[in-house]
Amino acid sequence: AEAHQRFTDGNPESLRRFEAQTRYMPGANSRSVLFYAPFPLTIAKGEGASLWDADGHRYTDFIAEYTAGVYGHSAPEIREAVIEAMQGGINLTGHNLLEGRLAQTICERFPQVEQLRFTNSGTEANLMALTAALRFTGRRKIVVFSGGYHGGVLGFGDQPSPTTVPFDFLVLPYNDADTARVQIDEHGADIAAILVEPMQGASGCIPGGRDFLQALRDGATRVGALLIFDEVMTSRLGPHGLANGLGIRADLTTLGKYIGGGMSFGAFGGRADVMAQFDPRTGALAHSGTFNNNVMTMAAGYAGLTQLFTPEAAEALAERGEAMRSRLNALCEREGVAMQFTGVGSLMNAHFLRGEVRRVADLSAVDGRLRQLLFFHLLSQGIYTSPRGFVVLSLPLSAQDIDRYVAAVGSFIEAYRPLL
Ligand code: PLP
Repeated sequence: AEAHQRFTDGNPESLRRFEAQTRYMPGANSRSVLFYAPFPLTIAKGEGASLWDADGHRYTDFIAEYTAGVYGHSAPEIREAVIEAMQGGINLTGHNLLEGRLAQTICERFPQVEQLRFTNSGTEANLMALTAALRFTGRRKIVVFSGGYHGGVLGFGDQPSPTTVPFDFLVLPYNDADTARVQIDEHGADIAAILVEPMQGASGCIPGGRDFLQALRDGATRVGALLIFDEVMTSRLGPHGLANGLGIRADLTTLGKYIGGGMSFGAFGGRADVMAQFDPRTGALAHSGTFNNNVMTMAAGYAGLTQLFTPEAAEALAERGEAMRSRLNALCEREGVAMQFTGVGSLMNAHFLRGEVRRVADLSAVDGRLRQLLFFHLLSQGIYTSPRGFVVLSLPLSAQDIDRYVAAVGSFIEAYRPLL
């Protein structure tokens, strides 16, 4: 309550805007993830790795648009690419000059993607990948994992959310290779696809074990289902994505977030024989979307992948993240608090418990208010993250910025030690 009061007192302009906007949008909101009590900050502008809110406070951005913002807020290469594309006209109603080279760049970067199609979001990419799998196998069942998040209509928090699309889902525990093997074999003849994040992002950066992911690969092959890796978040975690680094090849992969250069983006792709279903010359599977090949995304995505987030840059950012997470975990251990940071590379999440986090159920006994306290404490130190404890690195963050984050966690532990 104290943290909320301080926040309310310090942010009158954000509060005023929030209240005014509730007239036209329920909860003043189009993105549920951005809401937190007592009201969310209104962000007025960004530059590099800095954000300013409507009351003029400056923050260092440690959430980076939930991973889409790997380039920061003002990369000249992205800006110039978008302006140049717009000078050639925005809505061209045709195949355009820019989409082929982005498709080629993505296929070359992620070798498991032989062919792909663009969408406007990661959600759509997953819906289309599932559609492709249902059609390709002629089956109906889809295996997903508790804690998985594949988009606004494909959420499996502790159980499917009320807005989950009504596919025939079989929800299994994450990181449980034995259960997966048994269930896949039992339902094998009905399973069209196994859809999984190689690291669960939304439920708290829980890495999938190699054995677990390999068991899914083997199970899918055994029963003739398609393995779909949702790499919407994780494709940044290595030069060729997370699964590639583990040496496990999916039949289909879904992508999103930063790959569109910070513009609306999604893509799904993989085995050419599966993707051939969408070839309008021969296949019957339709996939349309007015903005699928919009020139801004096609231009920004290409500039980003070729000039900024190159495979070498992806590797370097992942290494910075590993180093930061090690420092944070060493700090928590030294201080003897029930707190840790899980994750891989440049994506991590604070959790308030000891012991390994292997699935979302491991977190159910933890008091969620601790994450919120951390969030408000970090805000008070000029660090913008998310109330769920998610931390995302972006290219423009400096070594000093990272030092400041670690120091802010140190001062949090100092301030709230009796609760930890
Ligand atoms: N899949 C994963 C793993 C995600 O983390 C997200 C978004 O956070 C999505 C899919 C959905 O992507 P979008 O928000 O672009 O629809």
